[in-house]
Amino acid sequence: MPLTALRNGDLIDASRPDLGQPQLPLSWADVYRRRPRADLRCRDCGTPMCAKVSSLKLRFFAHLRRPATCVYNGETVAHHQLKTLIAEVARSAGWDVEVEAVGPDWRADVLTVSPEGDEKIAWEVQRSPIAAGIAEERMLRHDKAGVTTIWIARRNWPWSRPVRTLVVAGSSEPWVVSGRLADWQPILHPDGRKVQWNSSSAELRSVVRQILLGDLTCHKWKPPDATWRIPFELGWVPLQAADTWCNAEPQLPERLMARLELKWTTCYRCDQLTAAVVGLIPIDPSTGREYEAISTQHEKILDRVWSDMRGVINRSEQLPIGVIKRRSSKQMGVDYVSNGCYSCDTILGNQYLYGAAPWPWENKHRIEPEVPDAVRDQALLIGPLDIGVLRKMLRQASSVRTIPWLPH
Ligand SMILES: [Zn+2]
Ligand SMILES: [Zn+2]
Repeated sequence: MPLTALRNGDLIDASRPDLGQPQLPLSWADVYRRRPRADLRCRDCGTPMCAKVSSLKLRFFAHLRRPATCVYNGETVAHHQLKTLIAEVARSAGWDVEVEAVGPDWRADVLTVSPEGDEKIAWEVQRSPIAAGIAEERMLRHDKAGVTTIWIARRNWPWSRPVRTLVVAGSSEPWVVSGRLADWQPILHPDGRKVQWNSSSAELRSVVRQILLGDLTCHKWKPPDATWRIPFELGWVPLQAADTWCNAEPQLPERLMARLELKWTTCYRCDQLTAAVVGLIPIDPSTGREYEAISTQHEKILDRVWSDMRGVINRSEQLPIGVIKRRSSKQMGVDYVSNGCYSCDTILGNQYLYGAAPWPWENKHRIEPEVPDAVRDQALLIGPLDIGVLRKMLRQASSVRTIPWLPH
């Protein structure tokens, strides 16, 4: 369903009231339901066309007879609606718009040019799966012409992950960006102020507008629901707001306390309730403010936590934290500093404690045991810890690759 056609050899655009020919001048009535029929032809295959209005009142052109080969064959109603939406939003944001733009060796569903003329974006609506190679070639051609490509994709296809993409899964109005979009949450980090990106969704109309106005930008990020196979993808984030927060002067005390994060479980060998140390949350004792958690998967961190815990935290049947020491894991075939069962000392392996489980290590494969609130809420504070020590722990923690979950 193309939006453009040739009329007596002149290019006309159904998405504009004057059909993109202000000097003629023209209106929709000059091409729609005219007798004799207006001379309209397809820009690609050259066969005759007629002007039409869809049931949703959208204007478009259609081949009189379906041609054997034409780039506009197979364009759906959704494709047409999305092109129209982008063109409308871009015009209202003050950008120059050309629908179904054609360059020397490239084309774009919608080409938008910034008011200053220095930024060109090709918006490509992709509703059906496409070979990665074809997508790459299209982007390469845009790239050579100084044009940035943004895909409006129906799915988060693997080829689209490292490139600018908005995932719009629905098939009709209202169009909503349901993937690759993030809002942010400020977090305090012993290294300063940082942000955490959270998956979000928003109306396509406002997302396109924010991209054109520069309020949203592309950022390499790891979505919270990503598995270890997806190292990163490009997501759309409100970077300016986040930058402002990050660059505000951080007030970091020299020393912080740290609260232990425990994972409660029923031992797979003896069936007793036991707790494992899985993380550390730095806390400023004077303000009660919490900082980003540090995973204790790295054995040097776990070892350090264990030595700081002794004498401060009294392990007991009410607080059944097993001994932290070097144990051998048959499954992993290695020895490492590990948590163990309080009752029978069997290893509580990292693969179980950290494997494929999202923060805070909730594991779908096991049922969480009932832990009395009084026990769960015990404040397990160690420290004070030097800020330099916490920073070192953070570096160590980030050097550990998340272990994929392998069922037994
Ligand atoms: Zn055609
Ligand atoms: Zn046990």
